[in-house]
Amino acid sequence: MARRKIIAGNWKMNMTPTEAVALIEELKPLVVNEEADVVFCVPAIDIIPAMEAARGTNIHIGAENMYFEEKGAYTGEISPKMLVDAGVKYVIIGHSERREYFAETDETVNKKVLKAFEHGLTPIICCGESLTQREQGITIDWIRQQIKIAFLNVTADQAKAAVIAYEPIWAIGTGKTATSDQAEEVCAAIRVCIGEIYDEATAEAIRIQYGGSVNGANAAELFAKPNIDGGLVGGASLKPDFGKIVNYK
Ligand code: PEP
Repeated sequence: MARRKIIAGNWKMNMTPTEAVALIEELKPLVVNEEADVVFCVPAIDIIPAMEAARGTNIHIGAENMYFEEKGAYTGEISPKMLVDAGVKYVIIGHSERREYFAETDETVNKKVLKAFEHGLTPIICCGESLTQREQGITIDWIRQQIKIAFLNVTADQAKAAVIAYEPIWAIGTGKTATSDQAEEVCAAIRVCIGEIYDEATAEAIRIQYGGSVNGANAAELFAKPNIDGGLVGGASLKPDFGKIVNYK
């Protein structure tokens, strides 16, 4: 069975609650696509007003991060239960910006992934290599390591429902997109890795996105690749161009 595409925006640290509502009002007629899941991952403070603004549309509201503990003395953090109570289904885990600026590691990513599943949330698990790693020819080794640790103790049924976002760090926010062949090569390798950890059925079911300067002009070529099941989109998700990405065909 063909995998359903999933196209998610990552708003990062942009949009006040008021701006979030205005942006959703502007984008909602543009992002209608019955054949794909459309997710807006928004800052935590925007989740509730965004949920309200997206009510009755095909837009799912997601989170950009969560903590791996249930509750307690973790000032500033958001728990999975808070996300679920607010109606969230998807949560980005281990974005490279979280790894770089907030000291997230493959191990904390794994803890968050397990906790997300425990609460019925779907993690969008990010992985990706730096330019140095690509130039040294260790991209696939690096990504396989990230995937193997992220999925430690995750069951096959959980893995089938997960989303992986392959995001080469050198392509994020730089305007430098990986070529569709480069993106496909790594997404295919991720699927092989999932097949090794689990089985063929899990590898076939899991959805793998590409992220890194996706826009309305390059989405069609990227999403046509057999192992690319959609995109994780930063900059362009804040603009009407996101409508073109969602309706890439
Ligand atoms: C991202 O933030 O995950 C991302 C891919 O950003 P951009 O699309 O701006 O490169």
